[in-house]
Amino acid sequence: MEGTIFDIKHFAVHDGPGIRQTIFFKGCPLNCWWCHNPESQNVNPEKYTKVNKLDGKEFKKEVAVGYKISVDELLKTISGDKIFFEESGGGVTFSGGEPLMQARFLIEILKQCKQNKIYTCIDTTGFASKNTIEKIADFVDCFLFDIKLIDEKLHQKYTGIPVKGILENLQWLDQNNKNVVLRFPIIPGITNTSKNISEVKSLLKSLKNINQIDLLPYHNISNGKYLRFNKENKMKNAEPLSDDEMQNLKLEFESIGFKVGIGG
Ligand code: SF4
Repeated sequence: MEGTIFDIKHFAVHDGPGIRQTIFFKGCPLNCWWCHNPESQNVNPEKYTKVNKLDGKEFKKEVAVGYKISVDELLKTISGDKIFFEESGGGVTFSGGEPLMQARFLIEILKQCKQNKIYTCIDTTGFASKNTIEKIADFVDCFLFDIKLIDEKLHQKYTGIPVKGILENLQWLDQNNKNVVLRFPIIPGITNTSKNISEVKSLLKSLKNINQIDLLPYHNISNGKYLRFNKENKMKNAEPLSDDEMQNLKLEFESIGFKVGIGG
């Protein structure tokens, strides 16, 4: 069985505990206005033309984004860093894009990791059928689960998909006592409105077992990628929040009893 990925990052220190290897799956059913990885959205491998300039001349080169990989090949790559995982309490994180979009491939590689005692995280939007979430849950050590907007219309507007099923999946994980760390991207003027913050806090208070959230600051760093892939960057003039503003948000979520981190 093969999946399509677009990057592998070794020795990552984000997206889970310890030293990690992060596998970026290609394909995402969402289309968030603030996406840092627009090259991840299309599930198929694609190409863009890179232009380098030297002495006033332009040199063009086709660059491929995304490639197919088998479960065995991927397991071999992941296992190559096993010693670092063991030393640091780390493991592998499946990110994207949305890894659940290639659920059959993801389940196979998760099973292999479990057999090989490799700690796994998935970094997910939570947009998948209930059946997929239930099937995958026993093979995942930690879900890094995104919460963006609670209001149905706003979620649809800014991500292109409904939020209802995502919230139901989160509730199922909570009720079944799965290990979940929430991730909340702080997008200026979109997710940090007082209405949305208050709705996210209400959601958090309703959870029985989940008690950790990471606030992910917005960075305006992807304009070049949008140009390369000929996509409109709707956030190109947005300014990130200041450190003080992020700290105030942290205090606000701590005040309801959550363990809060800034960054992932
Ligand atoms: S969920 Fe993540 S990868 Fe998908 S569009 Fe949104 S920001 Fe991009």
